[in-house]
Amino acid sequence: MSWSVLSTWKMSLEGCRIAAQQLAKGATAADALVAGIENVEDNPKFCSVGFGGLPARDGHVYLDGGFMDGDTLRFGAVGSIEGFRSPIRIARSLSAYKFNNFLVGQGAEAYAKAHGFEARDNRTSKSQARWEAEKDHAQDLVSYDGHDTVCFLTRDDAGTSCAGVSTSGLFLKEPGRVGDSPVIGSGFYADSEIGSAAATGVGEEIMKGALSHTAVLYMKAGFTAQQAAERAVLELDAALTRRNGSCNAISLIAMDRDGKFGVGTNIVFPFVYASDTQEPTLYLAQRDGMRTVYEAVTDIDSVVQD
Ligand code: ASP
Repeated sequence: MSWSVLSTWKMSLEGCRIAAQQLAKGATAADALVAGIENVEDNPKFCSVGFGGLPARDGHVYLDGGFMDGDTLRFGAVGSIEGFRSPIRIARSLSAYKFNNFLVGQGAEAYAKAHGFEARDNRTSKSQARWEAEKDHAQDLVSYDGHDTVCFLTRDDAGTSCAGVSTSGLFLKEPGRVGDSPVIGSGFYADSEIGSAAATGVGEEIMKGALSHTAVLYMKAGFTAQQAAERAVLELDAALTRRNGSCNAISLIAMDRDGKFGVGTNIVFPFVYASDTQEPTLYLAQRDGMRTVYEAVTDIDSVVQD
Protein backbone atom coordinates (compact mmCIF):
# COMPACT_ATOMS: atom_id res chain seq x y z
CA MET A 1 0.00 0.00 0.00
CA SER A 2 1.61 3.25 -1.09
CA TRP A 3 -0.14 6.51 -1.84
CA SER A 4 0.48 10.25 -1.40
CA VAL A 5 -1.33 13.61 -1.57
CA LEU A 6 0.31 17.01 -1.90
CA SER A 7 -1.72 20.23 -1.92
CA THR A 8 -1.30 24.01 -1.83
CA TRP A 9 -2.12 26.47 0.97
CA LYS A 10 -3.57 25.91 4.41
CA MET A 11 -7.06 25.92 2.92
CA SER A 12 -6.34 22.46 1.48
CA LEU A 13 -5.73 20.80 4.87
CA GLU A 14 -9.21 19.33 5.25
CA GLY A 15 -9.40 18.40 1.56
CA CYS A 16 -6.03 16.67 1.88
CA ARG A 17 -7.39 14.67 4.81
CA ILE A 18 -10.42 13.66 2.73
CA ALA A 19 -8.26 12.66 -0.25
CA ALA A 20 -5.94 10.70 2.05
CA GLN A 21 -8.85 8.82 3.64
CA GLN A 22 -10.12 7.90 0.19
CA LEU A 23 -6.71 6.74 -1.05
CA ALA A 24 -6.28 4.65 2.09
CA LYS A 25 -9.54 2.90 1.19
CA GLY A 26 -8.31 2.17 -2.33
CA ALA A 27 -9.79 5.13 -4.26
CA THR A 28 -8.14 6.12 -7.54
CA ALA A 29 -5.84 9.13 -7.69
CA ALA A 30 -8.44 10.95 -9.81
CA ASP A 31 -11.38 10.34 -7.45
CA ALA A 32 -9.37 11.31 -4.37
CA LEU A 33 -8.11 14.46 -6.08
CA VAL A 34 -11.60 15.60 -7.06
CA ALA A 35 -12.92 14.96 -3.54
CA GLY A 36 -10.08 16.97 -2.03
CA ILE A 37 -10.45 19.96 -4.33
CA GLU A 38 -14.23 19.95 -4.12
CA ASN A 39 -13.98 20.35 -0.34
CA VAL A 40 -12.15 23.63 -0.94
CA GLU A 41 -14.49 24.72 -3.75
CA ASP A 42 -17.49 24.28 -1.43
CA ASN A 43 -16.15 26.21 1.55
CA PRO A 44 -17.07 29.92 1.43
CA LYS A 45 -14.40 30.67 4.05
CA PHE A 46 -11.75 30.18 1.36
CA CYS A 47 -12.03 33.32 -0.70
CA SER A 48 -9.96 32.42 -3.76
CA VAL A 49 -11.62 29.21 -4.94
CA GLY A 50 -15.20 28.21 -5.82
CA PHE A 51 -18.03 29.39 -3.56
CA GLY A 52 -17.19 32.87 -2.27
CA GLY A 53 -14.29 33.18 -4.74
CA LEU A 54 -12.74 36.50 -5.69
CA PRO A 55 -14.82 38.63 -8.06
CA ALA A 56 -13.48 40.05 -11.30
CA ARG A 57 -13.55 43.79 -11.99
CA ASP A 58 -17.24 43.53 -12.99
CA GLY A 59 -18.24 41.81 -9.72
CA HIS A 60 -18.81 38.39 -11.30
CA VAL A 61 -17.00 35.27 -10.06
CA TYR A 62 -15.36 33.50 -13.01
CA LEU A 63 -13.62 30.23 -12.18
CA ASP A 64 -10.79 28.22 -13.75
CA GLY A 65 -10.01 24.52 -13.27
CA GLY A 66 -7.72 21.90 -14.76
CA PHE A 67 -7.15 18.16 -14.44
CA MET A 68 -4.58 15.69 -15.82
CA ASP A 69 -4.33 11.91 -15.64
CA GLY A 70 -0.68 10.89 -15.61
CA ASP A 71 -1.29 7.41 -17.06
CA THR A 72 -2.87 8.54 -20.31
CA LEU A 73 -1.67 12.18 -20.33
CA ARG A 74 -5.30 13.10 -20.97
CA PHE A 75 -6.32 16.46 -19.61
CA GLY A 76 -9.40 18.63 -19.30
CA ALA A 77 -9.78 22.29 -18.35
CA VAL A 78 -12.27 25.13 -18.05
CA GLY A 79 -11.49 28.83 -18.06
CA SER A 80 -13.60 31.78 -16.95
CA ILE A 81 -16.68 29.70 -16.18
CA GLU A 82 -19.51 31.27 -14.16
CA GLY A 83 -22.42 29.77 -12.24
CA PHE A 84 -21.24 26.22 -11.54
CA ARG A 85 -20.28 24.45 -8.34
CA SER A 86 -17.17 22.52 -9.26
CA PRO A 87 -14.71 23.49 -12.01
CA ILE A 88 -12.54 20.48 -11.10
CA ARG A 89 -15.40 18.05 -11.78
CA ILE A 90 -16.13 19.67 -15.13
CA ALA A 91 -12.43 19.73 -16.04
CA ARG A 92 -12.05 16.06 -15.19
CA SER A 93 -15.04 15.12 -17.32
CA LEU A 94 -13.52 16.96 -20.30
CA SER A 95 -10.41 14.79 -20.01
CA ALA A 96 -12.41 11.82 -21.29
CA TYR A 97 -12.64 13.28 -24.80
CA LYS A 98 -10.22 13.17 -27.66
CA PHE A 99 -10.94 16.75 -28.69
CA ASN A 100 -12.45 19.86 -27.08
CA ASN A 101 -10.59 19.30 -23.81
CA PHE A 102 -10.22 22.96 -22.84
CA LEU A 103 -13.40 25.04 -22.89
CA VAL A 104 -13.81 28.65 -21.81
CA GLY A 105 -16.59 31.09 -21.00
CA GLN A 106 -20.00 30.50 -22.55
CA GLY A 107 -18.86 27.32 -24.28
CA ALA A 108 -17.73 25.83 -20.99
CA GLU A 109 -20.99 26.88 -19.33
CA ALA A 110 -23.08 25.35 -22.14
CA TYR A 111 -21.11 22.09 -21.79
CA ALA A 112 -21.56 22.05 -18.00
CA LYS A 113 -25.29 22.69 -18.31
CA ALA A 114 -25.79 20.08 -21.03
CA HIS A 115 -23.95 17.47 -18.94
CA GLY A 116 -25.88 18.16 -15.76
CA PHE A 117 -23.14 19.70 -13.64
CA GLU A 118 -24.50 21.38 -10.55
CA ALA A 119 -25.19 25.10 -10.94
CA ARG A 120 -24.29 27.55 -8.17
CA ASP A 121 -24.04 31.30 -7.86
CA ASN A 122 -20.57 31.54 -6.31
CA ARG A 123 -21.02 35.11 -5.12
CA THR A 124 -21.43 35.50 -1.36
CA SER A 125 -22.26 38.61 0.67
CA LYS A 126 -18.65 38.62 1.89
CA SER A 127 -17.14 38.43 -1.61
CA GLN A 128 -19.51 41.10 -2.88
CA ALA A 129 -18.76 43.41 0.06
CA ARG A 130 -15.05 43.08 -0.63
CA TRP A 131 -15.60 43.80 -4.31
CA GLU A 132 -17.73 46.89 -3.46
CA ALA A 133 -15.03 48.18 -1.12
CA GLU A 134 -12.10 47.67 -3.48
CA LYS A 135 -13.46 47.70 -7.01
CA ASP A 136 -12.22 51.19 -7.78
CA HIS A 137 -8.72 50.52 -6.48
CA ALA A 138 -7.50 47.71 -8.73
CA GLN A 139 -4.50 49.77 -9.77
CA ASP A 140 -3.43 50.06 -6.11
CA LEU A 141 -3.38 46.31 -5.53
CA VAL A 142 0.03 44.72 -5.56
CA SER A 143 -0.26 42.13 -8.32
CA TYR A 144 -4.01 41.99 -7.76
CA ASP A 145 -3.54 40.84 -4.13
CA GLY A 146 -5.51 38.06 -2.56
CA HIS A 147 -5.46 35.22 -5.05
CA ASP A 148 -4.42 31.59 -4.46
CA THR A 149 -5.15 28.42 -6.32
CA VAL A 150 -5.87 25.10 -4.70
CA CYS A 151 -3.64 22.53 -6.41
CA PHE A 152 -3.68 18.81 -5.62
CA LEU A 153 -1.24 16.12 -6.72
CA THR A 154 -2.29 12.58 -5.91
CA ARG A 155 -0.64 9.23 -6.41
CA ASP A 156 -2.55 6.03 -5.77
CA ASP A 157 -1.65 2.48 -4.87
CA ALA A 158 -1.55 1.46 -8.54
CA GLY A 159 1.09 4.11 -9.26
CA THR A 160 -1.21 6.52 -11.11
CA SER A 161 -0.42 10.21 -10.64
CA CYS A 162 -2.97 12.98 -11.21
CA ALA A 163 -2.78 16.76 -11.03
CA GLY A 164 -5.70 19.16 -10.53
CA VAL A 165 -6.30 22.84 -9.82
CA SER A 166 -9.21 25.17 -9.09
CA THR A 167 -9.24 28.95 -8.63
CA SER A 168 -11.09 32.21 -9.07
CA GLY A 169 -7.82 33.74 -10.31
CA LEU A 170 -6.66 37.25 -9.52
CA PHE A 171 -8.92 39.58 -7.55
CA LEU A 172 -10.42 42.27 -9.80
CA LYS A 173 -9.05 40.57 -12.93
CA GLU A 174 -10.41 41.74 -16.25
CA PRO A 175 -13.48 39.72 -17.27
CA GLY A 176 -12.19 37.08 -19.71
CA ARG A 177 -8.74 36.94 -18.15
CA VAL A 178 -7.49 33.36 -17.77
CA GLY A 179 -4.35 32.72 -15.75
CA ASP A 180 -1.97 29.78 -15.72
CA SER A 181 -4.16 27.49 -13.61
CA PRO A 182 -6.22 25.77 -16.35
CA VAL A 183 -3.35 25.91 -18.86
CA ILE A 184 -1.76 22.46 -19.13
CA GLY A 185 2.00 22.62 -18.56
CA SER A 186 1.80 25.96 -16.77
CA GLY A 187 -0.74 25.42 -13.96
CA PHE A 188 -0.52 21.63 -13.77
CA TYR A 189 1.09 18.55 -15.34
CA ALA A 190 1.17 14.85 -14.50
CA ASP A 191 3.04 11.91 -15.97
CA SER A 192 2.81 8.71 -13.92
CA GLU A 193 6.13 7.52 -15.37
CA ILE A 194 7.95 10.64 -14.10
CA GLY A 195 5.98 12.73 -11.61
CA SER A 196 3.59 15.64 -11.36
CA ALA A 197 3.62 19.36 -10.56
CA ALA A 198 1.19 22.25 -10.07
CA ALA A 199 1.65 25.96 -9.57
CA THR A 200 0.08 28.86 -7.70
CA GLY A 201 0.90 32.54 -7.79
CA VAL A 202 0.68 35.20 -10.46
CA GLY A 203 -0.35 33.36 -13.61
CA GLU A 204 1.20 35.89 -15.97
CA GLU A 205 4.62 34.99 -14.49
CA ILE A 206 4.01 31.23 -14.21
CA MET A 207 3.01 30.98 -17.87
CA LYS A 208 6.27 32.64 -18.95
CA GLY A 209 8.09 29.56 -17.66
CA ALA A 210 5.47 26.86 -18.45
CA LEU A 211 6.36 26.12 -14.86
CA SER A 212 4.69 22.78 -14.09
CA HIS A 213 6.02 21.09 -17.21
CA THR A 214 9.46 22.51 -16.55
CA ALA A 215 9.47 20.89 -13.10
CA VAL A 216 8.37 17.55 -14.53
CA LEU A 217 11.12 17.75 -17.16
CA TYR A 218 13.67 18.34 -14.40
CA MET A 219 12.44 15.17 -12.69
CA LYS A 220 12.72 13.34 -16.01
CA ALA A 221 16.32 14.54 -16.23
CA GLY A 222 17.04 12.89 -12.88
CA PHE A 223 16.54 15.66 -10.33
CA THR A 224 14.62 14.88 -7.16
CA ALA A 225 11.16 16.40 -6.74
CA GLN A 226 12.65 18.96 -4.36
CA GLN A 227 15.47 19.92 -6.71
CA ALA A 228 13.07 20.06 -9.67
CA ALA A 229 10.56 22.28 -7.85
CA GLU A 230 13.08 24.78 -6.52
CA ARG A 231 14.99 24.92 -9.81
CA ALA A 232 11.85 25.52 -11.85
CA VAL A 233 10.64 28.33 -9.58
CA LEU A 234 13.89 30.05 -8.70
CA GLU A 235 15.39 29.91 -12.19
CA LEU A 236 12.23 31.55 -13.54
CA ASP A 237 12.36 34.10 -10.73
CA ALA A 238 15.99 34.87 -11.63
CA ALA A 239 15.29 35.11 -15.36
CA LEU A 240 12.33 37.45 -14.92
CA THR A 241 14.15 39.57 -12.35
CA ARG A 242 17.12 39.95 -14.73
CA ARG A 243 15.00 40.74 -17.76
CA ASN A 244 12.05 42.66 -16.29
CA GLY A 245 13.41 43.94 -12.98
CA SER A 246 11.14 41.80 -10.79
CA CYS A 247 9.19 38.58 -10.51
CA ASN A 248 5.83 38.35 -8.76
CA ALA A 249 4.90 35.58 -6.31
CA ILE A 250 5.27 32.06 -7.71
CA SER A 251 5.12 28.71 -5.91
CA LEU A 252 5.06 25.13 -7.09
CA ILE A 253 4.50 21.69 -5.61
CA ALA A 254 5.99 18.57 -7.22
CA MET A 255 5.75 14.86 -6.57
CA ASP A 256 7.90 12.15 -8.10
CA ARG A 257 6.54 8.85 -9.38
CA ASP A 258 7.22 7.22 -6.01
CA GLY A 259 5.20 9.85 -4.13
CA LYS A 260 8.10 11.88 -2.69
CA PHE A 261 7.36 15.59 -2.62
CA GLY A 262 9.16 18.83 -3.42
CA VAL A 263 8.34 22.52 -3.18
CA GLY A 264 9.68 25.70 -4.74
CA THR A 265 8.68 29.25 -3.87
CA ASN A 266 9.81 32.86 -3.86
CA ILE A 267 7.46 33.80 -0.98
CA VAL A 268 6.36 32.27 2.35
CA PHE A 269 4.18 29.42 1.17
CA PRO A 270 2.08 26.89 3.15
CA PHE A 271 1.43 23.44 1.69
CA VAL A 272 0.14 20.09 2.92
CA TYR A 273 1.39 16.52 2.45
CA ALA A 274 -0.02 13.15 3.46
CA SER A 275 0.91 9.59 2.59
CA ASP A 276 0.31 6.03 3.71
CA THR A 277 3.04 6.61 6.30
CA GLN A 278 2.28 10.22 7.25
CA GLU A 279 -0.79 12.02 8.61
CA PRO A 280 -1.77 15.21 6.73
CA THR A 281 0.92 17.71 7.71
CA LEU A 282 0.97 21.46 7.13
CA TYR A 283 4.38 22.82 6.12
CA LEU A 284 5.66 26.34 5.65
CA ALA A 285 8.14 26.84 2.83
CA GLN A 286 10.31 29.82 2.04
CA ARG A 287 13.13 30.84 -0.18
CA ASP A 288 16.73 30.49 0.95
CA GLY A 289 18.96 31.81 -1.86
CA MET A 290 18.48 29.47 -4.80
CA ARG A 291 16.98 26.82 -2.52
CA THR A 292 13.57 26.41 -0.93
CA VAL A 293 13.47 25.25 2.67
CA TYR A 294 10.43 24.12 4.62
CA GLU A 295 9.40 22.91 8.03
CA ALA A 296 6.34 21.30 9.54
CA VAL A 297 4.00 23.69 11.34
CA THR A 298 3.27 22.76 14.93
CA ASP A 299 0.83 25.59 15.73
CA ILE A 300 -1.59 25.48 12.80
CA ASP A 301 -3.43 28.62 13.98
CA SER A 302 -0.21 30.58 13.60
CA VAL A 303 -0.49 30.25 9.80
CA VAL A 304 -2.84 32.88 8.46
CA GLN A 305 -5.33 31.59 5.90
CA ASP A 306 -5.06 30.73 2.96
N1 ASP B 1 -2.38 31.27 -10.55
C1 ASP B 1 -3.64 31.93 -10.31
C2 ASP B 1 -3.93 32.89 -11.43
O1 ASP B 1 -3.04 33.57 -11.88
C3 ASP B 1 -3.71 32.65 -9.00
C4 ASP B 1 -2.95 32.03 -7.85
O2 ASP B 1 -2.67 30.84 -7.87
O3 ASP B 1 -2.62 32.73 -6.89
O4 ASP B 1 -5.06 32.97 -11.83
